[in-house]
Amino acid sequence: MNNKKEKGTKTSFPKAMKNTLRAWKVLWKACPQRFIYAVVYGIIDSATPYVAIWFSAQFINELAGARDPHTLWMWVIWILSSSAVLFLLSSFFQHLYQKYSYGTILDVYKIFQDKFLDMDFVDVDSQRVYDIKSQIEQDSNFRGFGLFMAMHSFDSLIWIISKIAGGIGLSISLFTSKVTNPSFVVLDNPFVCIGLFALLLGLSLLSSGCSNKAIGYLNRNNDAGKFENRKFSFYFKLVEDKHRALDSRIYGQERSFRSFFCSDDDPFRVNGYFAKLAKGPMGAFQALSAVISRLLLGGIYLLVCAKAWGGAFGVGSVTQYVGASTALFAGISELIEQLGLARANSQYLDVVFSLLDIPNDMYQGSLTTEKRADRRYNVEFRDVSFKYPGSERFALRHVNMKFQVGKRLAVVGMNGSGKTTFIKLLCRLYDPTEGEILLNGIDIRKYRYDEYMDLFSVVFQDFKLFALPLGQNVASCEKYDSARATDCLEKAGFGDRLSSLPKGLDTYLYKKMETDGIDVSGGEAQKIATARALYKDSPFIILDEPTAALDPIAEAEIYSKFNGIVGDKTAVYISHRLSSCRFCDEIAVFDNGQVVQYGSHDELVGRCGKYQELWNAQAQYYAKKEVPVEGGVEAV
Ligand code: ADP
Repeated sequence: MNNKKEKGTKTSFPKAMKNTLRAWKVLWKACPQRFIYAVVYGIIDSATPYVAIWFSAQFINELAGARDPHTLWMWVIWILSSSAVLFLLSSFFQHLYQKYSYGTILDVYKIFQDKFLDMDFVDVDSQRVYDIKSQIEQDSNFRGFGLFMAMHSFDSLIWIISKIAGGIGLSISLFTSKVTNPSFVVLDNPFVCIGLFALLLGLSLLSSGCSNKAIGYLNRNNDAGKFENRKFSFYFKLVEDKHRALDSRIYGQERSFRSFFCSDDDPFRVNGYFAKLAKGPMGAFQALSAVISRLLLGGIYLLVCAKAWGGAFGVGSVTQYVGASTALFAGISELIEQLGLARANSQYLDVVFSLLDIPNDMYQGSLTTEKRADRRYNVEFRDVSFKYPGSERFALRHVNMKFQVGKRLAVVGMNGSGKTTFIKLLCRLYDPTEGEILLNGIDIRKYRYDEYMDLFSVVFQDFKLFALPLGQNVASCEKYDSARATDCLEKAGFGDRLSSLPKGLDTYLYKKMETDGIDVSGGEAQKIATARALYKDSPFIILDEPTAALDPIAEAEIYSKFNGIVGDKTAVYISHRLSSCRFCDEIAVFDNGQVVQYGSHDELVGRCGKYQELWNAQAQYYAKKEVPVEGGVEAV
């Protein structure tokens, strides 16, 4: 962990604009309506005060001048009707704008979700992508940097541009109207007008420049803040997360982290780094910005009052010009601040784009896997070797194997011997570094990826279930065949529990989405995951340690039903509990990334080698009791 206060790098203005435009393009694709309503609502909302200011000015001018009751009534009606119409319109579009902006969080997550779903697994699984993803999360949790800030900038820019446009429209005559009092004639001089405008503009730019300078101190030290936030959320998750809570209670782990928060190095403390910045240069620039903006306001009042005194316009227009010019110059300040923020956000958008730009390098073929009614798919590993990306070590070395269609293959070996890697290559989550894998004699890379994936149902060791109804977990979709889902759950050994659930397949798993959801044990979860694999009904079923979390009775139950469960499918079954592999037709023994032995249990157990060694090592733990299984007996 690194808690150094690092300086952020400055991005050039054109690069920042390019990144912001690209972010808007990405967001537009995700939700165009949100942009449309932001523009319409932004314009109406910014125009509303100007319309009121203008009509009020006409009313006051009339009141201070001719006082014609008919004209006064007319202005009153205009003020009321225009305000009412604009208010209604503004409320209507505000509703639509808010409706879509509440969904921005989902839209942004969907952008990342789609990218991850589309990404080659080799990238999803890589440390580099994990680091980028974590950085994007931290950036957005810290100050909304990244796509959220780009979206926010768009909204702000619409408001600001409308504000500036309205301000220019209503204050232009402040500079062009002529005074009638000769003592003030100097104010009509075009150079004086331009000079005064330039002075006010200069003050406005100076104020926003100081404010940007102050924000710059924060931006340059974001990394320090992000690190503290990370510590903070880690600490709270540590004690709140029920899975960690057990360990924390037993070992008092929270004590190890408390010191982080008592550290004098914490930049958020009263005397911490950010407080020092606030008391020092950052605070000074903020104060200077506030002083200059007050000076600007004073300057506007002076100019407007001087021109009114000089007879350039009536008293009613004073409110109009003060209101419009203040909004105009405030708008200019805000525009500069927004551009500064977009520039600060640019480096965070670089990180977002580095994720979105990850190419799909995995070759995607176009051959169809021809859905065979007889499910006779032959798979062959031909001299396959594999190294994980970034690793120097071969996880698999010269693997040669042919799957016998409809047979049960057990893959056994010690931890780290390459069993799971073998399955990952079989499912084309990775491509071999050397050699090839063939499906019905053709390199699997030449098939359409989605069709090839359809051939496999896998229950990985670290499978995940969702906090959704049980039936949806089994079918992996909202609308499903209830009878089939029930049948699969029964086959997987979850039948008794299912019949005890009042809501049956509609019972929510866990309590995240429903308070009356059920918690399932590790073994029950494994049965549901097995049912999910069965529901997919693929020609290959692969079970990676499917009984690791089961008690011996449930394990025996699964084995006894195994033949019935897999039916005519080709089954691959990974385990390091050798007693559970005896019902398989073939056993491949992995050691150090290689298949060192291949054969049936009876052949291998009587032969000197790794299988016998593992068998003998485990035999002492098997109980004497034997349970019947289809085609033999099984010891538990
Ligand atoms: P098994 O399933 O037999 O326990 P694995 O196939 O998971 O073994 O692992 C085989 C080897 O590959 C091990 O040395 C393991 O450390 C390594 N390995 C597994 N996954 C990765 C990965 N994502 N990146 C790098 N090395 C890995």
